[in-house]
Amino acid sequence: MNSLMCILKRKCIIFNKMNLLLIILSAFTSHLQGSNNSLALDTIEYNVYVAADYEGVMHHGGADAYRKKLNLLFDQVNDFWNSAGSGKFNFYFKYNPDLQVVYKCSSRQLEKTFMQCNGFTNYDVLFIIDSILNFEDEESGKGWYCSLGEGFLNTIVCRSRSNTEHEKLFDVDYFCRGIAHELGHYRGVTDLYADRILESKNPVNNIQYEPDSCVMNNHYNTYTWSDYAINIINHTAKSTRPAKDFNGFFRSMFPNNIRVSVDAKGKNVKDVTLNLYGSRARYNDLIPTPYKTYATDKNGECIITNIPALYDNPTPPLNTDDLPWNRWFSFVLEAEYKGNKKYVWLPEYEVQQAFFRNEECIEVRISF
Ligand SMILES: [Zn+2]
Repeated sequence: MNSLMCILKRKCIIFNKMNLLLIILSAFTSHLQGSNNSLALDTIEYNVYVAADYEGVMHHGGADAYRKKLNLLFDQVNDFWNSAGSGKFNFYFKYNPDLQVVYKCSSRQLEKTFMQCNGFTNYDVLFIIDSILNFEDEESGKGWYCSLGEGFLNTIVCRSRSNTEHEKLFDVDYFCRGIAHELGHYRGVTDLYADRILESKNPVNNIQYEPDSCVMNNHYNTYTWSDYAINIINHTAKSTRPAKDFNGFFRSMFPNNIRVSVDAKGKNVKDVTLNLYGSRARYNDLIPTPYKTYATDKNGECIITNIPALYDNPTPPLNTDDLPWNRWFSFVLEAEYKGNKKYVWLPEYEVQQAFFRNEECIEVRISF
């Protein structure tokens, strides 16, 4: 009995030792893997010129204290940016904030000056923080956005929406993702939320379309980049001014053609009516009159050509008076066969993924 207990005990010790060894080994490998993400990848750095409002700087304890908080905030931005790539980034990205100006004027005035100034040679992107609305002209530019000025230089504006309370820039969790969102625009990624189609504004098939999960869709509670955003950020990574070096890039991501094939129970069908309905950013609606109508040929196919011009800067008639950014952000493709209808979502960011697959033509199959 004693010897059996002894053997069991020894086995137990061996087991525990092995377990411990396994735990140590797995901790060691995961440490290696973790460090691989940042150490094995080349680091790409972008220099951010920061201008902050005097009231905000004083509110946060003066320039030195403000600079420290700003650096910590950008540490969060960098951590989020890279980890949200889920291991799909080809580089480690690092944004370096540099508080250069504490201004007392209207941030709108400063913004106009930045937009017209062809300088800042040591910087890659400009950043204006205005923590409180204390000038009349600032009312017209509330909120956060990224715009393009002289020399293809992007200016990001983070302007408060309040004239009574300072924006809690350093204390709110989602602000670091809000900054990542605006920097995503600087890198060439468009807003994914603009592709949303609301059920209540979709009279064609009365279904809501929700774009991919991405910080470019929603930064409040989204902790990831979509594959679309990752592809663009990787593609433009080495350029400090992508708007200059990748001029026309947005349009170039569209394939030339979309081939639609329609079958019924496996047999190709001709003369199927295909309607393309356009959706608008800002309204998140679908225009109920088809923008274009096509039909399948004798092989049950229809090749829709000149795709970039369908989405971007489309030719009239648009059947609407207002098309924000002069772009259809999504199309809903409707196929009608013997009174039955089928639908395919064609949001711009999905269609543009063809660029990263080297496809000139994308295939859409509809089966009845
Ligand atoms: Zn945006």
